[in-house]
Amino acid sequence: MREVDLLRKALFESKYTVALCCSGLLEEVGRASVRTQSRAYEIEMKYGYSPEEIFNAAFFSTRPEKFFDYYKAEILPGDMEPGESFRYLRELEQRSLIHLMITDNTCNFYSRVGCRNVIMMHGDVEDNVCINCGKRFRADYVAKSRGIPCCDECGKILRPKVVMFGEAVDNRLMTRAINEITKAEVLLVIGANLDGAFAERYVKYFDGKKLVVIDPEDAFKDRVADLAIHRPVRDVLRELLEGC
Ligand SMILES: [Zn+2]
Repeated sequence: MREVDLLRKALFESKYTVALCCSGLLEEVGRASVRTQSRAYEIEMKYGYSPEEIFNAAFFSTRPEKFFDYYKAEILPGDMEPGESFRYLRELEQRSLIHLMITDNTCNFYSRVGCRNVIMMHGDVEDNVCINCGKRFRADYVAKSRGIPCCDECGKILRPKVVMFGEAVDNRLMTRAINEITKAEVLLVIGANLDGAFAERYVKYFDGKKLVVIDPEDAFKDRVADLAIHRPVRDVLRELLEGC
């Protein structure tokens, strides 16, 4: 049996499938993770700081203007469109072949394509809160603001509700994600191999039947997976759906 056919069979047989959606999904639409060397270097050249230095709470408090230069250009999706893979994920969800997605992406692509059950572990660019009065604003408001985005009620600065470097993931979200992974019969790791930090953090809680990795890059750790498909995510998901 071909790998994609094995994957389809596993999904049809599973009563509860969870997908860990990782940074490779954004890489496919043109935004490499800041953890890749080349992008980190590019950012350091452009802003004079590393991603870790600029995208953290202390920098946000002390250099908000520079922080938002970076945030608007490198974190907000801007002109980027959700790629094919996001639409395939929605279709898999609609067909009840994926029941829940857990992601470290903070982009709004999941909601834009209409995915419903998504836990965004690192927050959502669509959620921005006034540090003074608590009024909430969408990503669009931040993107269109000039310089530092401020509350239209009280004039104070907005803080994006996304996890920055050095910050911990919300405990309740963490507990929820772990519970869901524990319940899953099939766990898909999409857009990262088992070497990826995000995947590594959660895969250890999986106790179901089939662990599947879908990522172009092979990692030695992938040998513990029941199935590892090392090809572009969009190709795998397309073929998967074609046979459904
Ligand atoms: Zn306010």
